[in-house]
Amino acid sequence: MSNIEKHSIPCPKCKTISEQNIFHSINTSINNIIDKILNDEINFVTCPDCGNRFQVKTGLLFNNMEKQYALYFHPTTFEFIDQECLKSKRMFGNAFYLTNPTKFHDWQDFKSEVKRREGIVDFDEPVFEDDNEEDKLIIPGRGVGGIVINQHSSKDVINKYGNDYEMEAIFSYSYEMRYDEGISFFFKQDDPREIIYFIRVRPEFNAYTEDGLDLNNDFSLRDVAEIYGFLNNLSVSESTSQAYARYDGISFYVDYQEALSLPGELLIVKEIGIH
Ligand SMILES: [Zn+2]
Repeated sequence: MSNIEKHSIPCPKCKTISEQNIFHSINTSINNIIDKILNDEINFVTCPDCGNRFQVKTGLLFNNMEKQYALYFHPTTFEFIDQECLKSKRMFGNAFYLTNPTKFHDWQDFKSEVKRREGIVDFDEPVFEDDNEEDKLIIPGRGVGGIVINQHSSKDVINKYGNDYEMEAIFSYSYEMRYDEGISFFFKQDDPREIIYFIRVRPEFNAYTEDGLDLNNDFSLRDVAEIYGFLNNLSVSESTSQAYARYDGISFYVDYQEALSLPGELLIVKEIGIH
């Protein structure tokens, strides 16, 4: 059942209060509901006074009973939906899809998941090409190997690199998908969409930066500092026992034991991380 209520909503710009129809739950009995979600027509209102259009900060449950999935959006808290889910679990059991909606704080993420579930493809999203030279270029803060961080998911990685990878849990925080080609992709364990947020390359992958740093031609943290600036200290990765120099969008990994004994600028870079 769709649930709609009248609420007095203040305009964030001019503070005028107006009566607006607000949805707390919607389903596929509403005509063109997918379009309405994707076009920002649900819980987006226009101020009658100043014309400002804004999203009302409230929870929204979308139940697609035909395809048997449920998604929940709330900009700040999942407290309410978690309570509701507990109640419905008592009634319907854990297996019922409506008792386990996928939850989002970010409206764009919510919409992306609707698109994914509905099989709607955006043609302005990058399309993978077969292995080409451009894939070897490391772009700090963006990606390498045809995978864009914070955009592509584990599924995109598998589409491109196949199923032959080793999966390792990094504490209870993330998973590493490690490929023999010399590249690893990381996503967070609590991310239901498994979006890649970090990529690491080893020499075998033959990647290089725009500035000509290439893991197959030894270069040191001194070379890095000449391009990216001098760093006072290195970070240490607890999971791999590696030391690394972290810059905006890119990190350079060195051997931890060597880092204990050698001056920083002489350390040879072994791997590069993109984040
Ligand atoms: Zn207004």
